[in-house]
Amino acid sequence: MNPPSVVDSILSARYLRKGEKDFTDICRRVASALADDENERARFYEAMISLRFLPNSPTLMNAGTEIGQLSACFTLPVPDTIDGIFDAMKEGAIIHKTGGGTGYNFSHIRPEGSPVQSTDGVASGPISFMRVFNAATDVIKQGGRRRGANMGILNVWHPDILAFISAKKKEGEFSNFNISVMVNDKFMDLVAAKSFETVWLTKGGTGEKITVGQIWNGIVEGIWKNGEPGILFYDEINRHNPTPQLGEIDTTNPCGEQPLLPYESCVLGSINLAACVREGAFDEDLLRDTSRMATRFLDLVIEKNVFPIPQIAEATRKTRKIGLGVMGVHDAMLMLGLSYDSEKGRAWCEWVMKVITETAIEESHRLAEKLGTFPAWQGSIWKDYEVRNAAMTTVAPTGTISLLAGCSSGIEPIFSFAYTRKNTVGKVFVIVNPVFKEALLHTLTGMGYAGDEREKKAGEVISHVHETGSMQDVAWLSAEFRGLFKTALDIPWREHILMQACFQKYVHASISKTINMPGSATKDDCAEALLMAWKLGLKGITIYRTGSREDVVLALKEKE
Ligand code: UDP
Repeated sequence: MNPPSVVDSILSARYLRKGEKDFTDICRRVASALADDENERARFYEAMISLRFLPNSPTLMNAGTEIGQLSACFTLPVPDTIDGIFDAMKEGAIIHKTGGGTGYNFSHIRPEGSPVQSTDGVASGPISFMRVFNAATDVIKQGGRRRGANMGILNVWHPDILAFISAKKKEGEFSNFNISVMVNDKFMDLVAAKSFETVWLTKGGTGEKITVGQIWNGIVEGIWKNGEPGILFYDEINRHNPTPQLGEIDTTNPCGEQPLLPYESCVLGSINLAACVREGAFDEDLLRDTSRMATRFLDLVIEKNVFPIPQIAEATRKTRKIGLGVMGVHDAMLMLGLSYDSEKGRAWCEWVMKVITETAIEESHRLAEKLGTFPAWQGSIWKDYEVRNAAMTTVAPTGTISLLAGCSSGIEPIFSFAYTRKNTVGKVFVIVNPVFKEALLHTLTGMGYAGDEREKKAGEVISHVHETGSMQDVAWLSAEFRGLFKTALDIPWREHILMQACFQKYVHASISKTINMPGSATKDDCAEALLMAWKLGLKGITIYRTGSREDVVLALKEKE
């Protein structure tokens, strides 16, 4: 879907290694580095070159190279000692250098103002240390190929929670961090009961009392103001922890799709659903076949991975979690005539995710029979069924690989059906979604337009979409056509949440998704969305209100 020059600029900036010319070279290198035999190599190559399946960026960048680090997601523990804190920072720097992202929960660090025995001084608290992590990330820049990404988490029961919630209030602060508050059911129950006056915690040194309402309003205010903090649901995450015997999970990777134990890492890979649509029909066999291949592919990545530090190698090999997900979901739905914000559309998505997860479990079982279960299998939720991987499915943002595949990212609705893209040398392209273009021409034909007149009319609609991002106000187009081709901002925020919930039903890990709200959304809307997400069993939620951040990542008229 993207013109070759756009793909080329992504490739040369990120993936091409010395001596490589194009995408075929990359696919050849990756397939050869992972496959155990010729047949497998051919299968891996075909799936990647046809853009039906792509692994996460670090695999594309590093497989078959000296670096050999293939995972996108890491979580690192941060203990309450100076040694431990700076070890975590160093480990993070090593991971960023190889293209991975790191998540930290800073809640173990003692609150600001508490005594430091060895020096008779007072502690500076988790937020001040986060600042140092942020500066370190600035310096590393992920080997020049990928910006360092961090997740910073603080539990809602940490005394410094109010300062944490407002840490990113000023635009530009903690720019290398996404921040999220880890809330528990106890807190959410009080919120749901509107017990805002209830004292939630009392600060040690000062005896200051912090109420449920102060925390909740802080979170809601932050989200309304600029989309942060995100929220993670501790109890829901741990109700689905596949290896509870290894401890509770309190950390996720930067974009939230992988809740992981200390030092665990995860490799991601995504199936492009649009590439499974053949002549207007969805090819279920192809999806099953691709899911099987991808499970094997990702399990092999664990085998061939060069882990940055020994603790990560150990924790990752113990559970062997893989993150198989999807991209091109909205594209596929449009090809099949399914609206994103419809019961029918969601039913289809739920079915697709069920097929992928079931197939991944079957394949993981087959691998376990041949190669053995993951070492922490006993005591895990899988104890009655042998599998090789403690968790298999996820939904990644697919920020770069979806550009490469030319499909819509993850489970997100399309942002605009016509937009401008600049390549690295500044050349500008207007990109029109081909499914949209074809459907538009078809609709115009049905309305009696033909030849030049039809082209002219189509041009008018495309210009309008390019200018405003939507065609919901083009009254002369049929309601049916407009109903199908809705964009992220046309789709009501509740429907965004319902879509996330329908995928979460069959996803083992979590889901990276932005719940888009219009600029006119209120703080009450934000609060209601958080409660809705909790009640629907999501593991986390990220909300973004249009226009609320200056450095809008995805501008309407110009992407990148
Ligand atoms: N990630 C990162 N830096 C980036 C983008 C992503 O470290 O600039 C990590 C992060 O953990 C994120 C994961 O990679 O959650 C997957 O992101 P995405 O699917 O967008 O990566 P892609 O494989 O498309 O590059």
